[in-house]
Amino acid sequence: MFKWMRLGFLMLGLSAISIGNVSAEDEKKREEILKDRMEYYHKYSSVEVPWYYLAAIDQFERNIQEVRHDLKKKDEPIAMNFSSLLWAGLLNPSFEDQSPFSITYFDGIGKDGDQDGVADRNNPDDTMYTLTEYLKGYVYKKDDFTQALMDLYDKKETVHQIKTIAKIYAHFETNALDQRAFPLPVTAHYSYQGTWGASRGWGGRRIHEGTDLFAGYGVPVRSVSYGVIEVKGWNEYGGWRVGIRDMHNTYHYYAHLSSFNKEWKEGDIVEPGDVIGFVGSSGYGKEGTSGRFPPHLHYGMYKYNGRVEWAFDPYPYLQIWEKEEKL
Ligand SMILES: [Zn+2]
Repeated sequence: MFKWMRLGFLMLGLSAISIGNVSAEDEKKREEILKDRMEYYHKYSSVEVPWYYLAAIDQFERNIQEVRHDLKKKDEPIAMNFSSLLWAGLLNPSFEDQSPFSITYFDGIGKDGDQDGVADRNNPDDTMYTLTEYLKGYVYKKDDFTQALMDLYDKKETVHQIKTIAKIYAHFETNALDQRAFPLPVTAHYSYQGTWGASRGWGGRRIHEGTDLFAGYGVPVRSVSYGVIEVKGWNEYGGWRVGIRDMHNTYHYYAHLSSFNKEWKEGDIVEPGDVIGFVGSSGYGKEGTSGRFPPHLHYGMYKYNGRVEWAFDPYPYLQIWEKEEKL
C-alpha cells in the first residue's frame, strides 16, 4: 500500500464512482460508450504503442476527473487532457493556440489528428493522435512506457496506477470490466453495518476506515473487482491481508484473513469473485497472532486522485453489490 498521506472522512457521492448497477437501457448506453472509446484506442494504436497504453492513460484521466473539483470533466468518449502549456508550448504567448505550425515552433506537443488544419485539445482525434505520437518518442528507450509516464506526470504513484490499469486491460483484452462482486459469498452467514468512522471496529487505524463483515472462520473472501494484487502478507494490525488495485484508481484492502488462497502472488491479476483468502481473526500483534477479536473481514476502499490516496466508506457499495448478487 502507498505510504503517503491518506484523508479519512471524505464524503464521496455515489455518483462519483462507477459502481456497475444500471438499468438495461443504461447498460446499453454504457456498452456504446466503452465501444466508442475502444474505437479511438484502436484507431491510434500501433505495434509500438498498443491500445491498452492509450486506454490506461485515458482511463486514469477519467478517474481523476471524477473525484477532483479542480478538473473539468471531459465529454465522452476521450478523457485524456493535456495542459494548455504542454499542448501549446511553454513559451507560446497564446495558451489556447490551435495552429499546428506555431505550436510546433514553440515546442508544444499538440497535433492535428483528423487533418482539419487545427490542433484542438478538446478534439478526441487530435488528443489521441498527440498521445500516441508522444509515446512513440519513447519507443526503443529503456523502460519506455514508464519513462514516458514519468515525464508526463512526474509522480511515481501515478505512473504505478496507470501501469496497473494497462496491465489489467492487456490481460483481459477489453475495457468492458465493470462487473463487481460482493466480498463474501451471499449464501454464507454474515452480517455488517455502516460503521464508518466508528472508533470501535477492527481495522488498524484510529479512525475506522472500512467496513467489518462478520462471518465464521474459513468463509471465502473474494475480490470485488478486476485488479492486480499489490500486497499480500502480514501487517501488524491487519494481520494476513491482501491489497488489490483496480482500473478505477481504487485500492481494495482485505484484512484479518485466517489464510490466503495460495494460488495468488503479488502481481497476479484477479477477477470479481476470485477467492483470495478466508475469513479469520488475524492481526493486532506479531506475525501469526489471531483470536483477539471475533472473526470478520475488514474491507477498506481507498481512492487515488492523482495527488493523494484517501479512504472512503465502502458500505453503500457493499449494499449494492450484495443486492445485485442476490437478484
Ligand atoms: Zn474493520
